[in-house]
Amino acid sequence: MIPGLMQPKPLQIIDILKFAATAHGGVEIVSRLIDEPLTRLTYRDALARAERAAKALQRLGVKSGDRVATLAWNTHRHFELFYAVPGLGAVLNTVNPRLFDEQIDFILNHAEAEVLLFDKSFLALVERLRPGMKTVKTFIMLSDASAHEAGAVGALCYEDLLAAENDDAFVWPSIDENAGAMLCYTSGTTGDPKGVLYSHRGIVLHAMASGLNSAFGFDAFDVVMPCSSLYHASAWGLPFAAPINGCKLVMPCDRMDGASLQELIVNEGVTFSGGVPTIWTMYLAHLKQTGQTPGKLQRVVIGGSAVPRAMAETFKKDYGVRVLQIWGMTETAPLGVIATPTPALAALGEDKLDEAIWTRQGRLQFGIELKIVDENGAEAPHDGETSGALMVRGPWTIQRYYRGDKDVTDSDGWFDTGDIATLDAFGFMRITDRKKDVIKSGGEWISSIDLENAAVACPGVRIAAVVGVPHPKWEERPILVLETHAGANVSEDDVRAFLAPRIVKWWSPDAILFDTIPLTATGKIDKKVLRQRYADLLMR
Ligand code: ADP
Repeated sequence: MIPGLMQPKPLQIIDILKFAATAHGGVEIVSRLIDEPLTRLTYRDALARAERAAKALQRLGVKSGDRVATLAWNTHRHFELFYAVPGLGAVLNTVNPRLFDEQIDFILNHAEAEVLLFDKSFLALVERLRPGMKTVKTFIMLSDASAHEAGAVGALCYEDLLAAENDDAFVWPSIDENAGAMLCYTSGTTGDPKGVLYSHRGIVLHAMASGLNSAFGFDAFDVVMPCSSLYHASAWGLPFAAPINGCKLVMPCDRMDGASLQELIVNEGVTFSGGVPTIWTMYLAHLKQTGQTPGKLQRVVIGGSAVPRAMAETFKKDYGVRVLQIWGMTETAPLGVIATPTPALAALGEDKLDEAIWTRQGRLQFGIELKIVDENGAEAPHDGETSGALMVRGPWTIQRYYRGDKDVTDSDGWFDTGDIATLDAFGFMRITDRKKDVIKSGGEWISSIDLENAAVACPGVRIAAVVGVPHPKWEERPILVLETHAGANVSEDDVRAFLAPRIVKWWSPDAILFDTIPLTATGKIDKKVLRQRYADLLMR
């Protein structure tokens, strides 16, 4: 080979913010905060603040490679740390505060975090967990002096630390693009949480790819509000993709209820938002109750679990908002596929196009390869019918878990996602289930996702969960658990009558129950809890 003769400049996260401060310096970041008023700043301000934060952290002893943890909401301060910490060459470990105490404890100790920055609402949690933290030496509350409380952990005040630094430009170190930058743990629904360590290179490439027209389709007129948590796979990379594209950013802090989101959407002119289906269920219910409309909102990206078709349909038909379903996982940083139109589908007419977009997780994106394999590892055809284990590969896909002793990819670099899916000739992928949620009835598979999708469209139903439970004759049978909208009057007979024309008969749930549906720390239906709760329902 002959070496290329272009500049070997490494891809570094801080360059994204430097770019935004230069090219879109006056574009706003609007942020809610805990116990403080709505704050407005610009990308130029955010870079200056990231520089001060980096200097302050360095003064506190943070060095290249150290882990700095956060327990924080979607705010401009958390956003600054997305740049300041990796910019220093350190690793930002965003911890999900909704996990169980033991899991948070596990993560902080496993990551060996030395500094913990947290929002005021987590003071009690931090005080409670303090005795178990083996490595954290410095606690910083993300607040200004007026809202600050040092608490039993003697937390420093973030704004005081920033104010103590000067305005001299900070010289960001040059960092190997393959160096670790952000450490995100999976929620550990099976076993301990596992750490996924994103590299600078992976994050920058992911951010460039996710803004493309085939994905989020950003331009400088977009106003982006991430409603997926910054601690969950870095809010789908929106804190990186938005500044690259010069989009105004709106940070809702912890207030993800319908009324609070609507206030920001309307007042700030939000055009693009994203979050898990449960958030949008609440939002749509709010719009319906109040008769309001979603302002300038044009696109909503929804994922984390399957988007109910009825949700996508309501957004489009009632409010003219396009739903983009996304599939991904912490291990893929997280963009895997996203459902956006293509000319080939459009040529089949609007109904066919909608059908494809609403019933598929999304289409292939450059930078992440997908394949479906059968139980022998042979690749399945792209016929939209044959399902198999979904494998992925690419520069923002995991190779090995943090502190793991071996790679989790096969010899060709493929990572088994644990999902079962189909691929079709249009390049669209459809998840039929997570391997562990598949229902095996009399040797045949029933897709819990398809059944849930059918049930949640039934008028009055708010959330539908389907799990397989042991059955004396069929090994496992599906049961359907429903939560209804406040004031709705839905009976088992109504649901059965609604489902009958929509599903094959042998998929009919053996029981339909009205109960509260438990959610995981990442806002997904907690099927493990439901399986335990109803384990002997059909065995009695
Ligand atoms: P956790 O399990 O910790 O919540 P992840 O967010 O990484 O962590 O979960 C990834 C999983 O979520 C995927 O493997 C898949 O099963 C599920 N998932 C994500 N997006 C979708 C989607 N659009 N439709 C169906 N399942 C999805």
